Amino acid sequence: MNTPPTPLMLHSFPHAILHVDGDAFFTSVEQALNPDLRGKPCVTGKERGIIACASYEAKSRGVKRGVSLWDARKLCPDLVVLPSDYETYSLMSKRMFEIMRRFTPEVEEYSIDEGFADITGMRSYFRKSYPDIARDLQQTIHRELDLTVSIGLSLTKSLAKIASDYRKPHGLTAVPGNRIHEFLPRIPTADVWGLGRNRVALLAKFGVNTAWDYINRPEPWIRKLLHKPGAEMWQELRGNMVMPLDKELQRPEASISKSKTFSAPSDDPDFMYAKLVRNLESACIKLRRHHLRAKEIHVSLRTKDYTEAAAGARLSRTFQNAHDVIPVIRELYAQLYRLGTTYRATGVVLVGLSDDRQYQYSLFEDPLKIEKIRSLGKTTDLLQKRFGKHTIYLGTGLYIAKAPQHERDTPVWRKLHRLPGETVRKHIRIPLLNMTV
Ligand SMILES: [Mg+2]
Repeated sequence: MNTPPTPLMLHSFPHAILHVDGDAFFTSVEQALNPDLRGKPCVTGKERGIIACASYEAKSRGVKRGVSLWDARKLCPDLVVLPSDYETYSLMSKRMFEIMRRFTPEVEEYSIDEGFADITGMRSYFRKSYPDIARDLQQTIHRELDLTVSIGLSLTKSLAKIASDYRKPHGLTAVPGNRIHEFLPRIPTADVWGLGRNRVALLAKFGVNTAWDYINRPEPWIRKLLHKPGAEMWQELRGNMVMPLDKELQRPEASISKSKTFSAPSDDPDFMYAKLVRNLESACIKLRRHHLRAKEIHVSLRTKDYTEAAAGARLSRTFQNAHDVIPVIRELYAQLYRLGTTYRATGVVLVGLSDDRQYQYSLFEDPLKIEKIRSLGKTTDLLQKRFGKHTIYLGTGLYIAKAPQHERDTPVWRKLHRLPGETVRKHIRIPLLNMTV
């Protein structure tokens, strides 16, 4: 005989936590910017040949993230395949979080397209119920960015995250404390945040198949089976907040990394080295833009079968220009490169960052030379700002042209459709509305 689940002894919202999740975020951004794509099955990930994001139109045809483009085209011959434009996605993401911060300062940027917001106590400020505040946020994002999000509202991050996934796209699911007993029996353990496939299988052996089964086991039993993280989840699912929001705003960058996958794998040492130097140049451009200097440099080469070789060096002084560290890069590259191996990517990571504006010359440095190099960097940046990134580069870069052009090398839509006055760095700062007048 099935007895109905008994409610937990909880008020509706001792805490009110929102989980906001962009629906098919990358393709939705593409569709928001380019009306021609609306209603069409489209995917991003052209540059890798693997789908990074599929629009709802594509999903309905069975096309999913992680599938190869080759397989996807068999399922959906009219699929529109786009190169990923992470710069634009992250600018849109920033705008989404800006809107969330208008509702509450307590926001956690969990990933590029999802975040948490704590709106506890905001009812009197907005003179609205929590679900109405959530709906307002959802509508504001839709109106201003032309993107849909799904929102979960509940007492903890874990409950809110399950709730946002419950109705997609453009869903709003509120689970107050006195309704948890109705909601969790419908949630399979596989849909609980952080319970991986192995834990789900383990729980199933003990007859724990839903989130409701999970919280109806005694806490010590869960702790014994799944240790502290499992016990924390048990608390969270019962509406007791044990995972606080990580509100730390974007910290000053601890490292700068630039890597590039080749559109076709290569075994040409000159081409590879040129790509590596190009990574270094890009990383240095970013260093200078943020008024930083670096002290350590790491280089990595990834082979065709995804094994990675890496080496690093700590320098005796800091740098912010590529040509200062060319001898180091050349040395590291010589250590790593294996003749006859086919590679698919190179990368550079700069760490040990410090503020350039507080730079002190050491006794053994030639201030005149340093100033010359610094002004060279400034001039380079000025030229690139005016004429585009990498208009001026180290001679090694000439070898990049040796690479055979590949059909995957298509520029992203935004780069081909700049609005008047837009430059490489200055774009989509203005609210974008695609209106037919
Ligand atoms: Mg999402």
